[in-house]
Amino acid sequence: MIPFSPPRIDDKIIDEVIDTLKSGWITTGPKTKLFEKHIAEYSGVNRAICLNSGTAGMELMLSWYGVQEGDEVIIPAYTYTATANAVIHSGAKPVMCDVKDDFNIDVNEVARLITDKTKVIIPVDIGGLPCDYDELLELVRKPEIRSKFTPRNEPQELLGRIMILADGAHSIGAKYKGKPSGSLADATAFSFHAVKNLTTAEGGAIALNLPERFDADKMYQDLNIKSLHGQTKDAFAKVKKGGWRYDVVEAGYKYNMTDILASIGLVELARYESDTLVRRRAIFERYYDKLGQYEWANLPEFENENKCSNYHLFLLRINGVDEYQRNLIMYEIFEQDVAVNVHYQPLPMLSYYKHLGYNIDHYPVSFKNYEQEISLPVYYDLTDNDVDVVCNAVIKAVEKVLERQEA
Ligand SMILES: *Cc1c(COP(=O)(O)O)cnc(C)c1O
Repeated sequence: MIPFSPPRIDDKIIDEVIDTLKSGWITTGPKTKLFEKHIAEYSGVNRAICLNSGTAGMELMLSWYGVQEGDEVIIPAYTYTATANAVIHSGAKPVMCDVKDDFNIDVNEVARLITDKTKVIIPVDIGGLPCDYDELLELVRKPEIRSKFTPRNEPQELLGRIMILADGAHSIGAKYKGKPSGSLADATAFSFHAVKNLTTAEGGAIALNLPERFDADKMYQDLNIKSLHGQTKDAFAKVKKGGWRYDVVEAGYKYNMTDILASIGLVELARYESDTLVRRRAIFERYYDKLGQYEWANLPEFENENKCSNYHLFLLRINGVDEYQRNLIMYEIFEQDVAVNVHYQPLPMLSYYKHLGYNIDHYPVSFKNYEQEISLPVYYDLTDNDVDVVCNAVIKAVEKVLERQEA
């Protein structure tokens, strides 16, 4: 069986984790702080904070911005449920927006959905392809959009507009107009979940990129406190001589990253650009070579004049099929011992969001993208031969189902 996206766990990772275990310091400590520095550097920002998930990153930023009941947050209908759940947890209403053919949020639609309740927009870089950040920032800076925005607290006052919080769960290492993901929005939440390009098993980070009038060091401090029970000192600071006393300034969350996770991340990041992304790109190119000639194959955009993805998901679409036929094709692919996936079932198709009243009929592009989509395996240890096996399985499956249609 060719799996979908197993992590790359080799001796380097194992040795680094063992080193942490032997050090006697297993929760947030020196390795997490070092990993934060490297993540900030790599994503082109001054400060990054590491957490135990990407979802935690979005929740923390929504809380920091004071998002609450009565507010609205615009998100794409085409994303993983984490994006929407984070908004629900804040108390605000997720306002879902349709996407474009490239799977990313449609900025013209966003403009239509902004109200005087909108506090945040969360674009999602699906598959690692950055969203249209210049257009999004231009939109929220427009005088007529700014004038709808009524600040309720200090951060909102200081920003004076809708915040762009990128869900960069897929996009670490992706580029937009030469700039890395992390430096494209006001803040970006990365995920280091086991299936992501760069993993720490579970984990995440926020890259902070707010305008200079925000003190990045102070913001880091505030988020650090918020991520650990509102406690003014973390465990690492408390063990220093005489450092036992702390205060609690709010009922914060429990979102800190551990040094065990950070040790995996340090190894992963050190080889990410020079090794991981090189291999992932080669896999994408081989899929293009092998599948590009078929009329039924709609291959995902991963590079254009302004954007370069980090090759996170190979979002193949089969032209002309409906949901039922797509499912049959997937069945036939699995029958040949190749694991494939669908990214994503649009949120309005999931029970919880359906019951809240979201209706897939209002998101026609999201539905069309979904009903023809099959994600192919992409992972470091996938060999050229494996790619060929996947392609042959896909070709055979598609031809079988399309022939059945003609018969
Ligand atoms: C994986 C993912 C997340 C959540 O990441 P976690 O680290 O698992 O919390 C958020 N958004 C998208 C689009 C994702 O794919």
